[in-house]
Amino acid sequence: MRIDGAGGCFDNRVYEIELDVAWQIILLVVAEVGIKIEEQDNDDHLINGTIGKKLVTVAVQQLDETTCQVIVDTRRKVLQIYSWKPEEKEVNEFYQSFENMLKEFAAFILCPGCRSKISSSAKFCPECGLQVK
Ligand SMILES: [Zn+2]
Repeated sequence: MRIDGAGGCFDNRVYEIELDVAWQIILLVVAEVGIKIEEQDNDDHLINGTIGKKLVTVAVQQLDETTCQVIVDTRRKVLQIYSWKPEEKEVNEFYQSFENMLKEFAAFILCPGCRSKISSSAKFCPECGLQVK
């Protein structure tokens, strides 16, 4: 559901992904799109920060074991009564980056031994030699 409002945009999208993986990717995306973190809650999976002149909130919530929803909310620091211009640029960039990284991640797994990012088709971890299949 997308809501475009006074100088900001709210959107939530659902992905087939585990919560821990989603959170890892979100932290990478936050750095990539240039969100300055002011508050990061690793237990509630919530980040408050700023991007340019806007306030931004990013959160991930688990829906079931393999499904999460990613919420991105941006708004201007000074509330505008009404803006005719679409204000969804930052939100679109966030999801674009998230979806790109998600694709990349799907081709990799984390080695259960050493937590290295390795190809999902590998039989052995090239870092620590653990058999992963
Ligand atoms: Zn390993």
